Amino acid sequence: MPLARPMIGEREEQLVLEVLRSRRLSLGPRASAFEQAFAARLGAPHAAAVSSGTAGLHLAVRAVGIEAGDEVVTSPFSFVASSNCVLYEGARPVFADIDARTLDIDPQAAAAAVSDRTTGLLPVHIFGYPADMPALEGLAAKRGLWMVEDACEALGAVHGDGAAVGARGNPSVFGFYANKQLTTGEGGMVLLDSEQHKARIDSERNQGRAPDMGWLDHDRLGFNYRLSDVACALGLAQLERLDEMLAERGRVAALYGEALAGIEGLTLPCPDAGGDRRGWFVYVVQLPRRVERDACVEGMRSRGIDTKPYLPAIHLMSFYRERFGHREGEFPVCEDVARRSLALPFFPELSEAQVDRVTGALREVLRCGPSVR
Ligand SMILES: *Cc1c(COP(=O)(O)O)cnc(C)c1O
Repeated sequence: MPLARPMIGEREEQLVLEVLRSRRLSLGPRASAFEQAFAARLGAPHAAAVSSGTAGLHLAVRAVGIEAGDEVVTSPFSFVASSNCVLYEGARPVFADIDARTLDIDPQAAAAAVSDRTTGLLPVHIFGYPADMPALEGLAAKRGLWMVEDACEALGAVHGDGAAVGARGNPSVFGFYANKQLTTGEGGMVLLDSEQHKARIDSERNQGRAPDMGWLDHDRLGFNYRLSDVACALGLAQLERLDEMLAERGRVAALYGEALAGIEGLTLPCPDAGGDRRGWFVYVVQLPRRVERDACVEGMRSRGIDTKPYLPAIHLMSFYRERFGHREGEFPVCEDVARRSLALPFFPELSEAQVDRVTGALREVLRCGPSVR
């Protein structure tokens, strides 16, 4: 049983085939159609389609004016792209520990990490659970910081005040890799309030061309971060049934929640609270502290089920340790969660019988697992 599996149907085939038959595979009409449909769905004025979530994060931090030497406060419990995008521009990611319940950056820790060199905040809505944006926006306003949101895992999530995650007015980035709530194979989208930011990202994703310039004339440094029309057509088809796909993810999460309740020491994803609603992306449990995780992964594998430690702490990755001298003990909440976390198979078409197989296997493995403490 795989960890993730995209839901692809006839509509996806149809829209992709139309693009293939049109022979306009890139820079055609599907990109702006996808952007407009995505922006409308989330309730944001502008959207810019890009080749990946990582590319979107890179262009978003450039748009808000990141500069070499800046410090950016962000979460160590994330996919590495949210921190790498800061490094691309010669700036420094400064980590702040996470909240033990939500696993998102802790606003108090973030406030303590802000220094005179800090210019921005880059919160991540990890596992689709909304970060505490009101508190972080308060911090940004008080200290004059820009904000870019990594919403790559949070499509479908909603804040307590009713705003979709990613639609609060800060540049926000979504990712469309094959395991995400909506996929274009590879791809991403930046949601934007500002017309200037939209124009800059449109240009920088296309080698720095201004929209009114002739072919191959460039007025700034750019990249090739475009998303093909083939991918955008796939995205349009996926967007049409996003509600259905999100509902199926919610169904699977509820089944897991019931079947795994009451196992001593096992922590499940936090339930929604305070009006915040998770956009279900993965189902990650934190194993009991007595359990050795590698043995658990092996036990599940021998029963035909893929699981994965998810996610490792960014500051403890070898590149980050070597470059910045990070060591264990700096962010205890993040490190405890990262040591214990295990992603279970999770996708819209997972059946009740399959969930039962996974949870049955996990119960067996946890009983048999060797004790480390
Ligand atoms: C998926 C993801 C990204 C973007 O990944 P790409 O593979 O570049 O699309 C960025 N941040 C987080 C937290 C993610 O989960």
